[in-house]
Amino acid sequence: MTTKQLTQAYGVMLQGLVSLDDNLRQGVLVYIESLMLEQGIKREKYLSLDDLNSHYPYVCMGSYMPIDFFNVDSSYSRAACNDQNFKPISLKLCTVILDNHKPVHRWQTVGTFRCDDIVGAIDALLETLSNDDFFRVCISCNKIRPAGYLNHDQVCNCCSDELLGVA
Ligand SMILES: [Zn+2]
Repeated sequence: MTTKQLTQAYGVMLQGLVSLDDNLRQGVLVYIESLMLEQGIKREKYLSLDDLNSHYPYVCMGSYMPIDFFNVDSSYSRAACNDQNFKPISLKLCTVILDNHKPVHRWQTVGTFRCDDIVGAIDALLETLSNDDFFRVCISCNKIRPAGYLNHDQVCNCCSDELLGVA
């Protein structure tokens, strides 16, 4: 995870595009903040738990069971992970296609993860958020938007609608 990737992923989360469920929210926030510290990334605004509880998310990650972030080797985790095929953590992404100016939303599962692979799950989350194919900055409003909302000039639908309205 490069500094650039982490900075972009942080920006997407700050903008309220991500929803994490109760089993993951706090642990993921702490983990990401520790990554930011490790890489010495300065920020004007800090992520809050509310930022990761979006009501209109484009990326969702949840777990069917509580995750022990700081002690993945605990007997509790081990028992739950005895079944090699049990992957309670899932990461989902919503992509947008503009069909005649009407957005069409499509959810897909990016990956599922075992409970002792929470670090792998967070890496996949950050990689998804920092991927230009999924999220990009609108050159007009400077907000990070789902890539499907941007036109060829890298202007988002809100801004281009506004321009059309004025014209
Ligand atoms: Zn815009």
